[in-house]
Amino acid sequence: MTSPSGKPRLLMVPPDHYGIDYVINPWMEGNVGRADQLLAIEQWRTLRQKLSNLVEIVILDPSPGIPDMVFTANAGLVAKGIAVPSRFYYRERSPEEARFTPFFESQGFALHPLPGGFSFEGAGDALFDLTRPLLFAGYGFRTALESHPHLAASFDVEVVSLRLVDPRFYHLDTCFAPLPDGGLLWYRGAFDHRSNELIESLIPLGDRIEINEEEALQFVANMVIVRDRVFLSSCSGGLCERLSKRGLTVEVTELTEFIKAGGSARCLTLPLDQEVPVGGKANSTVAHRKLEATGHLLDTGALSHIIDSVKASGGSLALTTITPGDRKSDPSTALLDVTAPDNITLDTIISLLAPLGVSVPLTEEKDATLLSAPAMGVAPDLFYATTIYPTRVRLAGEWVAVKRQRMDGVIVIDDVPRVSLMRDLRKGDLVVCGGAGIRVETPHFVGGGSDEFSFMRSEVSSERRVAGAVEQVAWEMRRAKERGGKIVVVTGPVVVHTGGVPPLCRLVREGYISALLGGNAIAVHDVEMAIYGTSLGVKMKTGKPAPHGHRNHLSAINTIRREGSLTAAVEGGVLRSGLMHELIRKQIPFSLAGSIRDDGPLPETEMDLVAAQADYTRLLKGADIILAFATMLHAIGVGNMTPAGVKFFAIDINPAVVTKLADRGSLESVGIVTDTGLFLDLLATRLCGEGEK
Ligand code: NAD
Repeated sequence: MTSPSGKPRLLMVPPDHYGIDYVINPWMEGNVGRADQLLAIEQWRTLRQKLSNLVEIVILDPSPGIPDMVFTANAGLVAKGIAVPSRFYYRERSPEEARFTPFFESQGFALHPLPGGFSFEGAGDALFDLTRPLLFAGYGFRTALESHPHLAASFDVEVVSLRLVDPRFYHLDTCFAPLPDGGLLWYRGAFDHRSNELIESLIPLGDRIEINEEEALQFVANMVIVRDRVFLSSCSGGLCERLSKRGLTVEVTELTEFIKAGGSARCLTLPLDQEVPVGGKANSTVAHRKLEATGHLLDTGALSHIIDSVKASGGSLALTTITPGDRKSDPSTALLDVTAPDNITLDTIISLLAPLGVSVPLTEEKDATLLSAPAMGVAPDLFYATTIYPTRVRLAGEWVAVKRQRMDGVIVIDDVPRVSLMRDLRKGDLVVCGGAGIRVETPHFVGGGSDEFSFMRSEVSSERRVAGAVEQVAWEMRRAKERGGKIVVVTGPVVVHTGGVPPLCRLVREGYISALLGGNAIAVHDVEMAIYGTSLGVKMKTGKPAPHGHRNHLSAINTIRREGSLTAAVEGGVLRSGLMHELIRKQIPFSLAGSIRDDGPLPETEMDLVAAQADYTRLLKGADIILAFATMLHAIGVGNMTPAGVKFFAIDINPAVVTKLADRGSLESVGIVTDTGLFLDLLATRLCGEGEK
């Protein structure tokens, strides 16, 4: 469809009422009231003048109080005699709808209004490929992903959903311009990884003009193209050359006053006579799934965590119903409508939501998807990553519990499903992939119970709560010991400097410690203290440096290496005190995992890290309580290996370490921010009474 003159028509609205009156994008920030209206009118007229040689400009009168009406590209998407009017994301722009929709009607376009309440900002977020029957549609800031299938159906075209991730490029037409010969000019940094991969798969390398950030920020992609002429607000020499190589003539027209509001040439025009290249059929890869969330969704902040996870993964979410539990301790249930740009992303989102208590409703659940490991130690791309929580998978209609639960593994189907580390996969192993057929039992704990150990779950405690924390940890340890439970200590060398060794030794002697995990340093520093009375060359009694003390830790290592092992040093009477001595004497197993920092190492330090991890796993098996003292490395390593249900206390002076443990999914860990020596002293006194200091 063209005008009677045979020229294609472009809709423009004069900037009589234009101005920057509010802030709805980063460009407007600091620019409120700063657009020079007379200059804007002059710039707009110049653009109109230049374009009118090639197209027919259709003018719609502006309205006072609707300043952004000049950006007609956002009025709707018009092609093939059909108009899908926009539904603006921001309230500030919604009055424009009542002006543009009647205009489309008056021009004889068949209206295809959007269903539901989803936003869509017209040609600003929807650009036709100029040679293939494709419609590139943006989402992420203004347009909802949910609107894309409607565009596919309305224009009988395949929609390619592209996610915008940089708020400065909030509409697709600010960073993406299909060219008349099937090429594309685009700024990669405005899109997520999946979208860039999609663009590259659709448009051959030789046809892509990638612009840099500086060019993108000058709005070069926001160009109007009529036949072989390109109108834009600025163009570097290199870019002009690249465009002219594709047979395009560039006309630069200044639009500074509109760029202040985040728009340029293309934003000021709406094509009314676009033809969609023939041969396509309606198609959109956008996928939906109804999901159910159960848990303490509101009071624990779980719901906002769920919403954030969906958004961060490139999906969108609508909350359809929420049913609160009858009592405070009852979980709530919410029904969610999750939308993703394709099935793969949807599956990934579902698998990420599983640990947050979100799953496909049981009635709609399918068997888990199993794919073969493509090579030894390599999982299929869509593998489901495990958490610390008890998990079941659906196999042939039956829900089967997964064995050997731990986080950061994959689920392999042998006789029974079990967690495997990626490196242990054999080629052809069947690995659970995607999010279907997986149930994760997350804890439904609520805060505030006075007699329940819930006061610090995943939270960092302040100094004044340390005494209370010691009390609680001691209580748990006493109960564990009474029922023959297993208490594993993980520790860094700081315990030695801070005077934590004597209380730890008392706990060993009194039978409170079943195994000890650490690195080379805890043993080195402990032996140095036992033999020389120093820790890193500093006298433990006085806190003063010992003469030539810096070599003490090396001498300590040398002594043990000469004896052959820590055990031999104890048996030979060379090592007569300290933590390692106490452990060996009481035959308490320990494991020392090597690291790149290690001096020596001591003979018992396992420098093969895969073997060290296996040894840690062996000693952690069946643990009821884990106490991690002042070691980021070993505490996080152990956190990853530990299933839910094990009480995990991380004692560290740095709040970041304990929150990091919680962030990594060890949601049941309790962080206690305090000096480890002080804590151990209080703990040993509580459990073993006053003793030698
Ligand atoms: P790390 O960074 O894992 O942990 C040190 C932790 O101690 C930090 O989180 C810190 O916040 C905390 N901390 C410091 N002072 C504290 C205090 N007073 N109270 C409570 N927490 C306190 O480092 P790491 O465990 O010390 O060592 C990492 C690796 O390097 C280990 O494997 C270790 O064996 C090795 N290492 C070897 C040698 C050696 O061989 N000579 C020396 C040092 C470390």
